[in-house]
Amino acid sequence: MTHTTTTVDALYTAARELAHMYPRLTQLIHETAGNPTDQDTKTPTQRAYMEPWNTPAGQLAHNIHTQVRRYETALNIRLFNTAKYRGTSDALTIQAFNRLAVLIDHAHTRHIDSTDVTDAEQLLLSWPRQIRLMLDEPLPGEEPWTKAPGNLCCPHCERRLELQPGWQHNPEAADVICRHCKDENGDWYRWVPSTWVEALQQPA
Ligand SMILES: [Zn+2]
Repeated sequence: MTHTTTTVDALYTAARELAHMYPRLTQLIHETAGNPTDQDTKTPTQRAYMEPWNTPAGQLAHNIHTQVRRYETALNIRLFNTAKYRGTSDALTIQAFNRLAVLIDHAHTRHIDSTDVTDAEQLLLSWPRQIRLMLDEPLPGEEPWTKAPGNLCCPHCERRLELQPGWQHNPEAADVICRHCKDENGDWYRWVPSTWVEALQQPA
């Protein structure tokens, strides 16, 4: 398995992930901007002026929407000397993700070396992670929280307690944290390091 094959697989995987995740991102925009179905007093025209693009989710979606079209056009011109206008719907954005993966794959096959190709590749591979962070669903490898040893669970929600990223650098000061329960200040519930150090010393 060569490096290139792995990269190409990653591109198609990213495109498939985005097909599921992008609609959820655009859904999040409407949730954070106020659900239109809860605004029955507003006319459809007033709803159109809610400017959901001003939310962080909206800005990310707008950025992706624009960039995927921009690089699709750039690579179409570079590879085939032609470009087709792509409409603005979410369904067409999803088609553009897949098309962009195909175009980058073509560019690799033809050994076309340009910043358009490398930039497009870097963007396509980064979008799933960016959307997951916005949806608050990072994969374990993306934001390395560590499950606390000894099956320690939160007494309130019974989920596993975790050690914050970077805890290895200062383990004696590392609290165990429940990322699901927050106190009245909006801070996560946390317990002092001895909680998990003791658990570690108990026989399994
Ligand atoms: Zn909890």
